[in-house]
Amino acid sequence: SDSHFPVPNNPCECDWKEHFPAFFKDATGEVENGSCATENMKAENRSSENGAIVPSSQAEKLEPKVRFADVGCGFGGLLVKLSVLFPDKLMVGMELRDKVSEYVKERIHALRVKHPGQYENISCLRTNAMKYLPNYFEKGQLEKMFFLFPDPHFKEKNHRRRIISQTLLAEYAYIMAIGGIIYTITDVEELGEWMKSNLDAHPLFEPVSEDELDQDRCVELLSSATEEGQKVARNSGETFRAIYRRIESGA
Ligand code: SAM
Repeated sequence: SDSHFPVPNNPCECDWKEHFPAFFKDATGEVENGSCATENMKAENRSSENGAIVPSSQAEKLEPKVRFADVGCGFGGLLVKLSVLFPDKLMVGMELRDKVSEYVKERIHALRVKHPGQYENISCLRTNAMKYLPNYFEKGQLEKMFFLFPDPHFKEKNHRRRIISQTLLAEYAYIMAIGGIIYTITDVEELGEWMKSNLDAHPLFEPVSEDELDQDRCVELLSSATEEGQKVARNSGETFRAIYRRIESGA
């Protein structure tokens, strides 16, 4: 149960330097103590033209932040692939199962040992992402969220356990940057329709166009990088994806 893993009270309490030591070695003493961004740095973070929360490189250097989250990361195949594609982005996999999250941590550790200087930007947390995401991420922090092959919870009475819902989308919208992208994929058609219709119904998300998806290096990984995706591909199963952008309210 949840009592078996520690949960920070708020994002300032997250000890990210434990997860990404290589990214914190040049940080100031203040940051090394694990404190949150100063008001100045927060202001800088919000200073782009279109209102999107884009970190200034200075603030990002002083206090690097996790920008991508793979929710229900399973065995971590997506993180490993994304790590090389986006070497400057910090990303975390969130996984409920203790043994699976331990496996991912060991997998990443082994990769770091084998390839010095690489895979320093990925990590894994054991947590219940349906309950605790705002404990880890502040408003507007995440640029990408991934929900790959989530548990289907077929029975109607269990639909409330699905990881995409109106309530949870409001939470995801809060922790995502304007312009951030949410990626979902499943091999269960009914769940695919459920995720799409929930995203369509939510005022803070809009579908990403096919043209943009063609340019997006993450899209191909959705079905090829994860262990579940590979299983579906081996069985020539069909997949259903819904990829949406976080937009401003009233946009
Ligand atoms: N995304 C991976 C993939 O594509 O291979 C794993 C897919 S697996 C079917 C779903 C994963 O989500 C499982 O590893 C499960 O433990 C995890 N999970 C389910 N509910 C979760 C929650 N509330 N918080 C974090 N992880 C969760």
